[in-house]
Amino acid sequence: MIHYDILIVGAGHGGAQAAIALRQQKFAGSIAIVGEEPEIPYERPPLSKEYFAGEKEFERIQIRPAAFWGERNVELLLSKRVVKVDAEAHSVSTENGETYSYGQLIWATGGAPRMLTCPGADLPGVHGVRTRADVDAMMAKLDSVTQVVVIGGGYIGLEAAAVLTKLGKKVVLLEALPRVLARVAGEELSRFYEAEHRAHGVDVRLGVGVTALEGKSGHVSGVMLADGSTVSADMVIVGIGIIPATQPLIAAGADGGNGVNVDAYCRTSLPDVFAIGDCAAHTNAFAEGATIRLESVQNANDQANTVARTINGDPQPYHAVPWFWSNQYDLRLQTVGLSTGFDGHVVRGDPATRSFSVIYLKNAKVIALDCVNMVKDYVQGKALVVNGLEISPERLADTSVPLKDHIIASDAA
Ligand SMILES: Cc1cc2nc3c(=O)[nH]c(=O)nc-3n(C[C@H](O)[C@H](O)[C@H](O)COP(=O)(O)OP(=O)(O)OC[C@H]3O[C@@H](n4cnc5c(N)ncnc54)[C@H](O)[C@@H]3O)c2cc1C
Repeated sequence: MIHYDILIVGAGHGGAQAAIALRQQKFAGSIAIVGEEPEIPYERPPLSKEYFAGEKEFERIQIRPAAFWGERNVELLLSKRVVKVDAEAHSVSTENGETYSYGQLIWATGGAPRMLTCPGADLPGVHGVRTRADVDAMMAKLDSVTQVVVIGGGYIGLEAAAVLTKLGKKVVLLEALPRVLARVAGEELSRFYEAEHRAHGVDVRLGVGVTALEGKSGHVSGVMLADGSTVSADMVIVGIGIIPATQPLIAAGADGGNGVNVDAYCRTSLPDVFAIGDCAAHTNAFAEGATIRLESVQNANDQANTVARTINGDPQPYHAVPWFWSNQYDLRLQTVGLSTGFDGHVVRGDPATRSFSVIYLKNAKVIALDCVNMVKDYVQGKALVVNGLEISPERLADTSVPLKDHIIASDAA
């Protein structure tokens, strides 16, 4: 059995960054990353953006060039799926029967796309969006596709709709809730994006349930809605969230439910086992101490850095301000903080100019910003969130005053 001082399971954002940070911090022991996908670590966000649009080649979305891993003495064990963890023996086993032992294990497996459970859900032509293979499979078929039904009006569904529209496809976007982005943003932002997509020709339908996917000649041909009507589809894209990939770790006895529970240093309840990224349920100061999972590159990278520090004997609790971005058409949305539970908000700037911010407040303090084509607000607003500053809505709305001036004013007060 081969032994590694550090064994990382999952060759995605978190797994790659953990290895990078360990070596940056001069960790000298052996490191291997076991990954289910055949590719070296790559960036996932372009999968629903530039890569899907054919604007960026795979080589340009790799997290590091192929030679990097060998140069840093990080072994990549690819196309291997870990199916079992033996916490007592400190070992993992793969689907094809290999076993590796570890000194410390970093679980960085992300999640699998949540798929529909209705009749027809597994017909050919129904796609999730999580891996390069998922997107390559869609791209290979696009030439023969006229109409695509996108199910789910979250970031991934909206980004896919924007790309497909640009590629000349007809897109129908179905969202079960009364507005798009309902779980992550306030009403202004939702209505703005809904209008943008409609203006670009997307047929956005809100508050609609899907009861079945229909097929013809063994391929998806339509989506049946709860009102009995059918929308025809040459391709269906499902973007309704992920299921964290934690089964082997939970089976080994790790605490968890929706993800693996971790403490402030990303330690699971199992000895010498950490978990990071989309699969890690952690207590987040920017969610008022609630236990949450964050699905973002920021969180995966920052938790990886937290673990590397802990392993290298310089432990510092995870306390990173959440941030995220989404590109749709010529709109760059940047968000900072978490708006969940906001009790007030301010629209700064005029959405009609396609350059504005929504600032979210709770108990009068700034907790988050959604900035559309408004880089300055995003950069300067971060400090308002980090410091939980109390600023009157009138002053926040005044675009003649840069947000950074409020920080200076509060320092002087
Ligand atoms: C289409 C798309 C667009 C996105 N856009 C954005 C964006 O604009 N901004 C942003 O911040 N975030 C975005 N995200 C989210 C972001 O990519 C994730 O939050 C991030 O990848 C999480 O990193 P991770 O390491 O937890 O998981 P991943 O990057 O998903 O890596 C997990 C890896 O583990 C592998 N794995 C799983 N189980 C096993 C197993 N048992 N054995 C071996 N390997 C296993 C998986 O195959 C995968 O390669 C997007 C995600 C997607 C899918």
